[in-house]
Amino acid sequence: MSTLEIRNVRKEFGSERVLKDVSISINSGDFLILVGPSGCGKSTLMNAIAGLEPVTSGHILIDGEDVTFNTPAERDIAMVFQSYALYPSMTVRQNISFGLEMRKVPKAEREASVERVADLLQITHLLERKPAQLSGGQRQRVAMGRALAREPKVYLFDEPLSNLDAKLRVDMRTEIKKLHQRLGTTIVYVTHDQVEAMTLADCIAVMRDGNILQLGSPDEVYNNPVDMFVAGFMGSPS
Ligand code: ADP
Ligand code: MG
Repeated sequence: MSTLEIRNVRKEFGSERVLKDVSISINSGDFLILVGPSGCGKSTLMNAIAGLEPVTSGHILIDGEDVTFNTPAERDIAMVFQSYALYPSMTVRQNISFGLEMRKVPKAEREASVERVADLLQITHLLERKPAQLSGGQRQRVAMGRALAREPKVYLFDEPLSNLDAKLRVDMRTEIKKLHQRLGTTIVYVTHDQVEAMTLADCIAVMRDGNILQLGSPDEVYNNPVDMFVAGFMGSPS
């Protein structure tokens, strides 16, 4: 059974058709990378999966259950989006712990989770600070920590490393890969970075203009692109 199924999803903003007829089925534990040019609808699709924006038509299923009309909190998803702000009045520690508290995780377990992700993301020294006292890259790591403290059915990451410097981005990429191997959680991950796509993905979906052009293994998409656009986008050998 697939953990996450996107069935014929369409999304319109006024007269603009942003998602045209998107269907993707993701096997349990797969790492799906979503790539495509700016404005093609990647974030809109992520928002639809998360339940932050209603779809115009189509369905979203998690573990076979139709969650199309469920609120974000009712879907077992943890997400890191660029626009998803930290709670300004809470410390980093409280920000990371909050989602666990909401889910009634016992205190000792919450504290252990905070320590684990803080260590992973190298933010232990920042735990008592407020978001306003952090740089952009540090805030992004805290947002990442908040998602990783939980163990949901699905993680959604929308360009989570885009504000980090090159060294930290490579370190984080390695950590995310290890984490995925350890937890086996289904992940949908948007990136602009071809290297990130090729190293992290079990499968890659290439999107253009509200459509999925190709969905396949990194090897298939790179070596057997369906058209010139995918070839150009993936930097395939000609
Ligand atoms: P990507 O993440 O691939 O760069 P987006 O999903 O953010 O693309 O945007 C796709 C298109 O949808 C763009 O043309 C954008 O202007 C439009 N769009 C996104 N969100 C909204 C919104 N809330 N209201 C109106 N148009 C939107
Ligand atoms: Mg986007």
